Amino acid sequence: MVKINDNYLKLPGSYLFSTIGKKVREYSGSHPDKKIIRLGIGDVTLPLAPAIISALHSAVDEMGRAETFRGYAPDLGYDFLREAIAEHDYRARGCAIDADEIFVSDGAKCDSGNIQEIFSLDSRVAVCDPVYPVYVDSNVMAGRAGNYDSDAGTWSDVIYMPCTADNAFVPELPDETPDLIYLCFPNNPTGAAVTKARLQEWVDYACKVGAVILYDAAYEAYITEDDVPHSIYECDGAKSCAIELRSFSKNAGFTGLRLGFAVVPKGLERGGVSLHALWARRHGTKYNGAPYIVQRAGEAVYSQAGKAQLAEQIAYYRKNADYIYKGLKEAGYTVSGGVNSPYIWLKTPKGMSSWEFFDCLLEKADVVGTPGSGFGPGGEGYFRLTAFGSYENTVEAVDRIRAL
Ligand SMILES: *Cc1c(COP(=O)(O)O)cnc(C)c1O
Repeated sequence: MVKINDNYLKLPGSYLFSTIGKKVREYSGSHPDKKIIRLGIGDVTLPLAPAIISALHSAVDEMGRAETFRGYAPDLGYDFLREAIAEHDYRARGCAIDADEIFVSDGAKCDSGNIQEIFSLDSRVAVCDPVYPVYVDSNVMAGRAGNYDSDAGTWSDVIYMPCTADNAFVPELPDETPDLIYLCFPNNPTGAAVTKARLQEWVDYACKVGAVILYDAAYEAYITEDDVPHSIYECDGAKSCAIELRSFSKNAGFTGLRLGFAVVPKGLERGGVSLHALWARRHGTKYNGAPYIVQRAGEAVYSQAGKAQLAEQIAYYRKNADYIYKGLKEAGYTVSGGVNSPYIWLKTPKGMSSWEFFDCLLEKADVVGTPGSGFGPGGEGYFRLTAFGSYENTVEAVDRIRAL
């Protein structure tokens, strides 16, 4: 009889967003008169910008005419999009990345979950704690994480790099030597950013020990500070130790359209093998390309009109982040993030656990956030609020929290 991949059985089950949903449903069921404000889930709310909608419309029309119809897209992405990415996201920032080093995909979640499969099963994985759960769970499924300790909330074979207030939520180099290092900056969930000097230390370290950094830059559009790099390739030597993952979700509202990309430099090798060639092989075998109309929409992100409209959207969310950050700080909360990120990370007051504070906020302020402990043991005692709501709701939510 067939046997299942029993690594899946080791997964403790992701109760975070389902538990939040259940608690909110129960509360609103018993308090139908309350207006609940949701600042929990990391999803955008503004509609797609006009430049993107117009690119979608014309691409749809092209698909309806025999002369311009397109079938399968090239596995690695259309040249028009790969060129636009290389030009605007990289060369414009002084990073020598070529269009053929860019692998277009349907999002950074898939890429961050799939990328591990081109590495050996005995690779040691290092992650930040707290962490975006995909990095850990995809390695659990592959059989790389060892066993779960349900008391500690950790996996025996994973190297955890604590991100705490003491290190400003940027990890120290680990004592044990990892092979794969997942870094995400600006960070989800903490909202922390890394300076170019600090990231350079990581690049130097990875080059020295032969590790590969998987750099998730999904939130780069929210960077406001000058010393914070938008790409890891701003650091010297990163092309020989780093793969960068990007998404159109948070900068352009593509969470429902789906588009992202991975950058795998051609010179990046381990054991004499090109990782670019491996990822190309993997992509060609398991992926048939992002939709033409969505890639045209992605191209519009880099048009003059698209850039201007998206700058306004980011400014809107940034204003929310600013309001939350300042409002909670004035109210005496210990807050971080928010400056280069749509996420505000706050310390729960009076020693409350993350879930106690969740319940308190829901019941006393009718505000929904995300318990930090859902992102790993290092998130206990913290809480995440997002800037992705409407400005009016954000103001009302913060004012309610301040009145507690
Ligand atoms: C939202 C997010 C992504 C983007 O995911 P998509 O699949 O592109 O929508 C990637 N990484 C992190 C850490 C995120 O929060």
